[in-house]
Amino acid sequence: MATLDIHNPATGQSITTLAADDADSVAAKAAAARAAQPAWAAVPMAERLAIIGRFRAGLVAELDDLALALTQEMGKPVSQAKNEINGLLGRIDFFLEHAEAAVADEAVADGGTREIISHVPLGVVANISAWNYPYFVGCNVIVPALLTGNVVLYKPSEHATLTGLNITRLLHAAGVPADAMQCLVGGGAVGAALLEQRIDGLFFTGSHATGQRIAVALAPRLVKVQLELGGKDPVYVRADADPKTAAESLADGAMYNTGQSCCSVERIYVHESLHDTFVQHFLATVAGFKVGDPQAADTYIGAITRFPQLALLEAQVADAVAKGAKLLTGGASGGKRLPGPGNWFAPTVLTNVNHTMELMREESFGPVIGIQKVGSDEEALALMNDTRYGLTAGVFTRDEAAARALLSRVNAGSVYWNCCDRVSPRLPWSGHGDSGLGLTLSTLGIQTFTRPKAWHLRQL
Ligand code: NAD
Repeated sequence: MATLDIHNPATGQSITTLAADDADSVAAKAAAARAAQPAWAAVPMAERLAIIGRFRAGLVAELDDLALALTQEMGKPVSQAKNEINGLLGRIDFFLEHAEAAVADEAVADGGTREIISHVPLGVVANISAWNYPYFVGCNVIVPALLTGNVVLYKPSEHATLTGLNITRLLHAAGVPADAMQCLVGGGAVGAALLEQRIDGLFFTGSHATGQRIAVALAPRLVKVQLELGGKDPVYVRADADPKTAAESLADGAMYNTGQSCCSVERIYVHESLHDTFVQHFLATVAGFKVGDPQAADTYIGAITRFPQLALLEAQVADAVAKGAKLLTGGASGGKRLPGPGNWFAPTVLTNVNHTMELMREESFGPVIGIQKVGSDEEALALMNDTRYGLTAGVFTRDEAAARALLSRVNAGSVYWNCCDRVSPRLPWSGHGDSGLGLTLSTLGIQTFTRPKAWHLRQL
């Protein structure tokens, strides 16, 4: 029988071994989901809304235990695990409020021939997910997909499977039929087996490399594919910004969730007139971040979830230092993995960086940040756009008009004025370039789980 070992990345210890899926069980689950879809689509919207409302209540009732399980399996500080689940409640509220109207029939012409747009479910939706915000990235798909009459085959990350099973259990307890919402347990091979099934949409959150593989695998069958991938998100601190406020906000944006956020601040450009003051405030803020046991309530920096990421972070720092970067934090351990057990990396700040360095080009996905001095708005803008990614970008300045003028020219799906690392359920979440295809959240992120159907109706 296939199995999946779950480890605690903060201690290196085994948590449990789960029964995992294999090609046969994935095929059986996909067939059962397909068979269950018409009945689920026939459930009235009011009842589907009530079921998701009960799912929300289940999350609230078990919040502390759910947060602890997430912390143990991925190393996220427990206060941040609770923040994630509380944040999910707001997203669910948005979906509950807007799902019905988003997919209601729309009459667009009333003349001799009536014209109506309706929204029909895609059918069987597959969701292959990342581990870093498993409640968010899982439920951005699962909740609106179920509300709009789809069934879901959900493959959580192998690094967040306990959370995936908790989400599935709570949905079943709330009233989603077992066959309409199924969790597939396993790693990449189980994800690959899911791609072989008859599915009507594939919604993926994860790395660019895996996303590209999935798009290639599904292209011949013309399956709808959405990809939410990584980024190298830049922020520019303009000459007129308050350096202390900007530094405090950006240190949090770079290091929250131990820097393992798709929209973490990954590159900072600071006008030369306030660069040194900004760096001082940034270092002071980082020095205040408590690194340690993710289960402790006051921990801010937890474990690195995936062991191989430690080598990637070390390589990025070594490459930057070899090319002239200045390593400013962490003392002797700055820029290096910390002693185990478990996967630990010292919060690391580098200045004197440039775009010849991997650190400023490829996703770090850890508590590591490069700060580059710039001489003008135009230089900053050119550097912000010098990337294959385009998830988010921000500008800190007192001047809203200047911020909006710059942000309108930045190639990114989300742009921020005087804020960062922020996602709203009311706004579409999407990446430009190698950051992805399609979108989730907002009313568009409800409609994306349906196909439009065009009705031409004529009374003779
Ligand atoms: P990953 O690509 O390693 O894995 C993602 C998922 O794909 C996992 O469930 C994995 O088991 C599965 N998978 C792996 N190989 C597969 C294959 N051949 N076929 C099918 N499925 C396969 O990514 P990760 O490490 O879990 O996530 C980190 C990445 O996710 C980062 O790049 C991050 O920026 C990105 N991310 C993006 C967003 C967003 O909204 N844009 C949100 C969160 C994370």
